[in-house]
Amino acid sequence: MILEKAKEILEKHHLCNHCLGRLFGKLGKGTNEERGRAIRLLLSMETGKEYKEPEKCELCGGVFNNLDKFAELCIKAAEGIEFETFWVGSRFPEEIEKKEEEIWRKFRVVSGEKITKEFNRELGKVIAVRYGKTPVKERPDVVFIVEPFSEKVELQVNPIYVAGRYRKLIRGIPQTPAPGFKESIATIICRAFKKHFHGKCIFKGAGREDVDVRMLGNGRPFVVEIKRPRKRKVNLKDIEEEINQSGKVEVLNLRFITPEEAERILTTRHRKVYEAIVYVKDGITKEEVEKVVKSLKNAEIKQRTPRRVLNSRADLVRVRKVYDVKGELIDDKHFKLRLVTDGGLYIKELISGDRGRTTPSVSEILGKEAWCEILDVLEVLDDVEGDN
Ligand SMILES: [Zn+2]
Repeated sequence: MILEKAKEILEKHHLCNHCLGRLFGKLGKGTNEERGRAIRLLLSMETGKEYKEPEKCELCGGVFNNLDKFAELCIKAAEGIEFETFWVGSRFPEEIEKKEEEIWRKFRVVSGEKITKEFNRELGKVIAVRYGKTPVKERPDVVFIVEPFSEKVELQVNPIYVAGRYRKLIRGIPQTPAPGFKESIATIICRAFKKHFHGKCIFKGAGREDVDVRMLGNGRPFVVEIKRPRKRKVNLKDIEEEINQSGKVEVLNLRFITPEEAERILTTRHRKVYEAIVYVKDGITKEEVEKVVKSLKNAEIKQRTPRRVLNSRADLVRVRKVYDVKGELIDDKHFKLRLVTDGGLYIKELISGDRGRTTPSVSEILGKEAWCEILDVLEVLDDVEGDN
């Protein structure tokens, strides 16, 4: 059956061994070129006629003889870009793909493989052998898109994702660039990443703290995306050390991650431990601190979007929980409050009440105005079940 069909096709079409073998590409083992050669040999043996490979193949135009050249073009396109893994894609003129399908239809070929598939695979083999790179389909460092007929190569450089946690040691720095501030957490962190990876750096924090709030303890999770990096073999420890020398921001646990992990890190809401110094103008007693602690412990807080962020957030009521509370009187107008709460609860408003928009609040419980004077995030706790 195979030989009969091949004979019939070769009478009408001038095909090279690759294109002949590819018509039966889904059968047996070996390369299409080997299949094509074997079919020709068997046909000569059976018919006594010679079935020579034509000078020029009417389907592929001989692109399979030029794989070395295409491999070189690919490597040239990636000049100055560090990569270990790669994948090959290709664009053939539409008429070539149509012609191939037409042959399939005309001769009822059901075991054929597409020309792009063979080309991508065979070119990948050459690049792997000649340049010692590794073809991988899932998240390769680079992708070569080859146009064999115009001999153009388009290079796609895949981004790198790094996760970590940051500690903000001083007050007065915004998380991302803001008017009136010389630098931000993002610029300090990205400066080091840009320098080592030679690419564009995008910083994203898992939530944010206010400019005047420190982020201590084990730090806040963040993700950095480096677009079109020219370097990949980077020691993250070097970046860590460089950032930590800033004296303002410290990073820890830097590690390479996938885009899926990045998404998960940025969308998980974490419980947090806060420490606030609360100011009560009309005075506060030890008993009143006790009352605040008791009332807030395990309380459900209804919080309408704070007035101060209304222009950037939708106005809605959030329900968040306070878990643990500890209080300590400092002097007759100040006390310290340590809170474990759901992520997404605005602490300054939990204390002030934000003119009744947050309830209950420290002000409401005391029946007098209370203000958050100093705030620190002490810990960002790891994923807690059912926290969303
Ligand atoms: Zn061909």
